[in-house]
Amino acid sequence: MNLAVSEITQKFNASLTFKIFSICFASTHIPLLALITYLVTGFRSEAIPVLGTVLGATLIGTAFCLASVWMLIKPLHEIAKTVETYRATGAVKPVRSKRTDEVGVVTNGISVLIVELDATLSQLRRQATTDVLTGLGNRRWLKDIGSMEIARAARESTAISVVVFDLDHFKSINDEFGHDVGDQVLMAAGATIQHNLRPYDIAARIGGEEFCLVLPRTGTTAAIAIADRLRKELAAKAIGPLPAGRVTASFGVYRGDPKSESLKVMLTAADRKLYSAKNNGRNAVHWAAARSVSGESVAS
Ligand code: GH3
Ligand code: MG
Ligand code: MG
Repeated sequence: MNLAVSEITQKFNASLTFKIFSICFASTHIPLLALITYLVTGFRSEAIPVLGTVLGATLIGTAFCLASVWMLIKPLHEIAKTVETYRATGAVKPVRSKRTDEVGVVTNGISVLIVELDATLSQLRRQATTDVLTGLGNRRWLKDIGSMEIARAARESTAISVVVFDLDHFKSINDEFGHDVGDQVLMAAGATIQHNLRPYDIAARIGGEEFCLVLPRTGTTAAIAIADRLRKELAAKAIGPLPAGRVTASFGVYRGDPKSESLKVMLTAADRKLYSAKNNGRNAVHWAAARSVSGESVAS
């Protein structure tokens, strides 16, 4: 008997249809039940008291019906708000319903799906903008974030510099020691960069063995110092079977004018200096600054 009751309760809890039918049945029958009870218990059967009883019971039935339906759909209301908020702002506000009926299943299901969708999108975004080998940003990410930093420097009238560097004779390392050692060198270069940068600096691997830094709030002298520190640290590193001094890089530094130059223009100017460093013996930092900034038309 108890088993049958618990089975019915379980079925009732899991069925929205059952609940709606029960609410409709109860609320539409409340006036009838009230009238029967009223008459059976021997109260006066004149029109006014009977009408009053039926009217009161109808109001109670209506209130019961509205409140019950509201309670039934409340989780849907909350999950609809969660969906709207997520679409409008990207904020994830999960909703949990203890119910086991269709409303509970839909509410919890959508809530979990939003959390999973957001995690997957974040992971895809990260993968689309990160270089797997070094953990630095990639060229696409640099283009977006670097351009934003240049716009900010223009707005706030602050200095900005870019550094481009390329590992020297990297092909010969691959040829002599194998691709895996080459990869190890790239990872070590990535770690060296990450170790040396300030929290607001931007670093990306923009080609096979070519890297780029965008350094906000950094003038020529500071940018050269950062590049030279990186150059020395790389040259001092023993990586795998390679002795210290075997891995070196050539650097091009350019202090740009954020008000008139785009990231592309700054990268081209830094590249020019990088090739000048390559052509003058490698393992060096060559630099230039936009003529328009602080009279620093330094070049080497
Ligand atoms: P330079 O000093 O003039 O820059 O000479 P280089 O040998 O460094 O330059 P080059 O452009 O001739 O060779 C770059 C090499 O980098 C060739 C390519 O096989 C290698 N490379 C590119 N991407 C990767 C990578 O992800 N892993 C490894 N191990 N090697 C890579
Ligand atoms: Mg190279
Ligand atoms: Mg190269």
